[in-house]
Amino acid sequence: MSEKYDVIIVGLGAMGSAACYHLARRGKKVLGLDRFSPPHTLGSSHGQTRIIREAYFEHPVYVPLVQHAYELWADLERESGRRLFVQTGGLMIGRPEGVVVGGAKQSAVEHRLQHEILSAAEVRRRFPALQPTDDMVAVWEPRAGILFPEACVETHLAHAKRHGADIHVNEAVTRWEADAGTARVVTSRGQFQASRLVLACGSWVTALLPDLSIPLTIERQVLYWFEAKRAPENFHSDRCPIYLWEHEPERFFYGFPDLGEGVKVAGHHEGRVTSPEAIDREIHADETEAMRRIIRKLMPDADGPLRSAVVCMYTNTPDHHFLIDSHPRYPQVLIASPCSGHGFKFSSAIGSVLADLLTEGKTRFELSLFRHRWPVS
Ligand SMILES: Cc1cc2nc3c(=O)[nH]c(=O)nc-3n(C[C@H](O)[C@H](O)[C@H](O)COP(=O)(O)OP(=O)(O)OC[C@H]3O[C@@H](n4cnc5c(N)ncnc54)[C@H](O)[C@@H]3O)c2cc1C
Repeated sequence: MSEKYDVIIVGLGAMGSAACYHLARRGKKVLGLDRFSPPHTLGSSHGQTRIIREAYFEHPVYVPLVQHAYELWADLERESGRRLFVQTGGLMIGRPEGVVVGGAKQSAVEHRLQHEILSAAEVRRRFPALQPTDDMVAVWEPRAGILFPEACVETHLAHAKRHGADIHVNEAVTRWEADAGTARVVTSRGQFQASRLVLACGSWVTALLPDLSIPLTIERQVLYWFEAKRAPENFHSDRCPIYLWEHEPERFFYGFPDLGEGVKVAGHHEGRVTSPEAIDREIHADETEAMRRIIRKLMPDADGPLRSAVVCMYTNTPDHHFLIDSHPRYPQVLIASPCSGHGFKFSSAIGSVLADLLTEGKTRFELSLFRHRWPVS
């Protein structure tokens, strides 16, 4: 057994890379382990772009956390000199009584966020790539934008190393054990021990928690990049923001301006349940056609040739909120990453919150929505 670390972090995707960075920056002796070499395309943090938005329709409790995430992304940009974020503004579109518009409005009002309510005609006039029907409205929020996930993960890891973290890639954790004050992990190459352990292994997390009956589901998601069929200038980021669209009651898709690779769109919680081992990474004509049917109706100018598509995984809790909690039997073990398909934007803040919990035993952020007391078998 080698020297003892303060914290071992298993999984170096969005959450684990951020946790390594924040803990190393606070002077902790950190070991980060990943079965692959992040950023990679086999988990949940690939595909060039991720939305960040502030008028959070899912629940107002996320707003202070995302505001902290904005600050930390900006800090990381300053420290690294890399561009990680582009502000485009954002539209939450749907029927006025729907969950997206209603929830975004509630968060905006409760947290006094700058926003505007736009009619469908106003959206069509200001953002002609987007053609909502007359029964829809939109919440416009100016601070929304785009994060570049591969660059974010890479930068967190590079700067974690600069602050002294040991980062081991292509080294899977096969099991762990804990007793009073210590946690030990066994990997494909050796054994390590630490005072604290963070399990941030995304869609693989249940494999390392065989004693917990955690009802997580892994959902297959497809990202599509279409070429604009007409008026490509309307998809540029100066005329097209990010958007999240409730196109039918509780059915969602979202998209981005064309940053040079095509118009990126995807369904949200429309995928089949799968597992990281069994996931089908082929793209099928019928699913592309289903995406096109939505585009033809609401963004007809985006209905050009398919340029590319890629498969990704959501790790969903039953209520689609996050899971950030200590292991019910071992308080020195934190479980942090099932983020139900909307966690990337928060990862800088979640890394910092994990560092708060591990170094100070508390955080100023409200996490009760993310605690799940599932039975230990
Ligand atoms: C298609 C898609 C679109 C999304 N869009 C958005 C968006 O626009 N905005 C947003 O905020 N969020 C979005 N999300 C959600 C967000 O990307 C995820 O919540 C986030 O990336 C998950 O990060 P993670 O660290 O939990 O998982 P990952 O990044 O997958 O990291 C888990 C890591 O653990 C490693 N690992 C697993 N098992 C082991 C083991 N035994 N030993 C060692 N290492 C291990 C894996 O190799 C992997 O690198 C999207 C997700 C998807 C799939």
